[in-house]
Amino acid sequence: MNATIDFSEVLSLKSLKVLGYTTDFNQCDCCGRESLKGTVSILDTRYDVVLHYGTGCAAAANKYDTLDTLNEVKKMIKEEMKKYNTAEKLAAKMTLDCNIQKAKNEFKAAPEKIAYDKHMIDREPLLEAAYNDYAEHSKIVEETFRLGRICDLVKKGIMVKYSIPFENSYKI
Ligand SMILES: [Zn+2]
Repeated sequence: MNATIDFSEVLSLKSLKVLGYTTDFNQCDCCGRESLKGTVSILDTRYDVVLHYGTGCAAAANKYDTLDTLNEVKKMIKEEMKKYNTAEKLAAKMTLDCNIQKAKNEFKAAPEKIAYDKHMIDREPLLEAAYNDYAEHSKIVEETFRLGRICDLVKKGIMVKYSIPFENSYKI
């Protein structure tokens, strides 16, 4: 950045363009604040230089010559933030969908899940055969619960691995 530029000069809307919001720059070129979550990229067309302002400074009154200009800039910042948030949400949703698919595949292939599915197929004729044998009948039902609990644990582990919130459990 050109060190001779005087940033304390009033920026007018004619020479200023809000380019967007970015998390790539975390220091405000206006007040020097660091560790910001993100900054607003502002192009100063007089010097053809891109400045990164914290949202507070970007919307601060003393940088703009009129109230209309300030409001216009605030509106632009708001729009850029909205665009950024929408893109971020969309990306998060795509990641979640992708992770759900991965988790689903992994759970389907887990030996515990295969064992459970096999047991569920095998158990019908076994239950029928044990119709009059209470002890044998209970044993089969007990085994169903046991395999089911193991499956649940495996599923929970896979969900944690792929950072899938509990409410999406039914998708896996
Ligand atoms: Zn600042």
